[in-house]
Amino acid sequence: MDALIAENIQLFKKQLSDHVTLVAVSKTKPVEDIREAYEAGHRDFGENRIQEMVDKHEELPKDIRWHMIGHVQNNKIKYMASFVNMVHGMDKPKRFKELDKEAAKHDRVIDCLLQVHIAEEESKFGFDYNEAWAFLEDKPTEKYPNLRVRGLMGMATLTDDQARIRNEFKGLRQFYDKVRTELSLKDFNILSMGMSGDYQWAVDEGSNMVRIGSAIFGKRQ
Ligand SMILES: *Cc1c(COP(=O)(O)O)cnc(C)c1O
Repeated sequence: MDALIAENIQLFKKQLSDHVTLVAVSKTKPVEDIREAYEAGHRDFGENRIQEMVDKHEELPKDIRWHMIGHVQNNKIKYMASFVNMVHGMDKPKRFKELDKEAAKHDRVIDCLLQVHIAEEESKFGFDYNEAWAFLEDKPTEKYPNLRVRGLMGMATLTDDQARIRNEFKGLRQFYDKVRTELSLKDFNILSMGMSGDYQWAVDEGSNMVRIGSAIFGKRQ
């Protein structure tokens, strides 16, 4: 439809260093837009609603790696367990239990990230640092054999205050480093932070996975 999408994908790939994974956030966008990015060679796409991701998965090539980046409800996990590649929004211990159970039914091991609440806003989901530490200390990989806890995901406060955003990212990076050195969990090596408006700061602060929507696909309605 719009050749700009392929161009934007190329620009991001050129700009981001190799160790930073680009998740193209296609929520609310039509499958044609995803197809265009796909044809430009892109494979990692993020959606924030399970039903929408399921519908798009059915229509699109099966080698796409789908990332669930939005809030996850336990009663919808079963719809994505057969194909989802990575679940970023794991915000409570009960999410892990349910995703593990559904992954087992499909004989899969699903990658997931702990969502940590780093923003000021009350409305955002996630573990706080103490809860996240307690959860990770408790050896989740042994408890949930059908999950791989790959790292952390965080969203900064929606604000123009750059120093504040950077500080929130820095805090999550420090926590990530501490988990890696002190708990040495297997395959725990992903730090998902940064969106269209703040990804440069996130990368500066150590992000190795960015979730970019509007800067690739254009504004959402
Ligand atoms: C929508 C969304 C994004 C992408 O937002 P943009 O500002 O469009 O890049 C990233 N992460 C999450 C969790 C989102 O819901």
